[in-house]
Amino acid sequence: MTLPQLQEVAAGCGMPAFAAKQMAQWLYEKRVTTIDGMTNLSLKARRRLAESYCIGRTAPKAEARSADGTAKYLFDGAGGRDIEAVYIPDRERATLCVSSQAGCKMNCHFCMTGKQGFHGNLSANAIINQMLSIPESQSLTNIVFMGMGEPMDNLNAVLTAVDILTAPWGLAWSPKRITVSSIGKITELRTLLDTTKVHIAISIHSPFPSERAQLMPVERAYPITDVLELLRGYDFSHQRRLSMEYIVWKGLNDDLRHADALARLLRGLDSRVNLIRFHAIPGVELKSTSETAMTAFRDRLNELGITATIRASRGEDIMAACGMLAGKSRD
Ligand code: SF4
Repeated sequence: MTLPQLQEVAAGCGMPAFAAKQMAQWLYEKRVTTIDGMTNLSLKARRRLAESYCIGRTAPKAEARSADGTAKYLFDGAGGRDIEAVYIPDRERATLCVSSQAGCKMNCHFCMTGKQGFHGNLSANAIINQMLSIPESQSLTNIVFMGMGEPMDNLNAVLTAVDILTAPWGLAWSPKRITVSSIGKITELRTLLDTTKVHIAISIHSPFPSERAQLMPVERAYPITDVLELLRGYDFSHQRRLSMEYIVWKGLNDDLRHADALARLLRGLDSRVNLIRFHAIPGVELKSTSETAMTAFRDRLNELGITATIRASRGEDIMAACGMLAGKSRD
């Protein structure tokens, strides 16, 4: 809950207005797991609270650990389906990739979550819970909304979670530590851009509309050219970062023709391109490109003035591709 929501709870339970701030401090700073643990609230207030509310912290129900330190956690999601969060330590950084939906409606061809269909939106609590209930919670430095689901398709819960993460009464994180990824639902993306300062990542995957539409049906409703036009209206030169996610598939989008078209598409936009290796998923014929082609693609983009880097692949031994642990658990 946000502070205004806690104020409503306090009023509804006959508690003084300042109790809302006390509750926020217990929840987000001291991270209590029981209402009884909020010891500066009167016993009567705690009893009253416990009649209608709980803390809502749920431990992961399963986990898989990679030899490289990456850990994947499984949680109850929505609609009877599980969701995943992935912990990725990397030198001084410790990133958690969180899910925003159980399944997804967007049906991207390359995505295990998309193959599972949509089963429900996560509440803000279920999103924040992924961060607060893992063993590495206190050491996290970054959060990326790149797990299961399209964050813009569950915007209210994502905005509430970002509010809790960044507000002084909440976890008080800088928005620079948070990245929200999207395939580009324009109206919701505009709201996210206008109401938060988080970094933005856009999934592109092909510079050619017809090819992109094959990979991502959303292209037909929200063409990438419209998404980029929207983004051109915002400042990504400092404070806020814009990145473009590009999975590089063998023989599909890994040649220099694609690199040149991508550079043309992004010209004038303050952004960087993350080139991503593909984790194979069952029933999909796509294959990750070779190291040579990936490097040539990156170098071509860099020559054309587009900052591009190859993202390190993590947790291959625990099936790090989004949605695979949840799918396996269901099987
Ligand atoms: S890639 Fe993202 S938007 Fe597309 S189906 Fe998977 S979870 Fe949904």
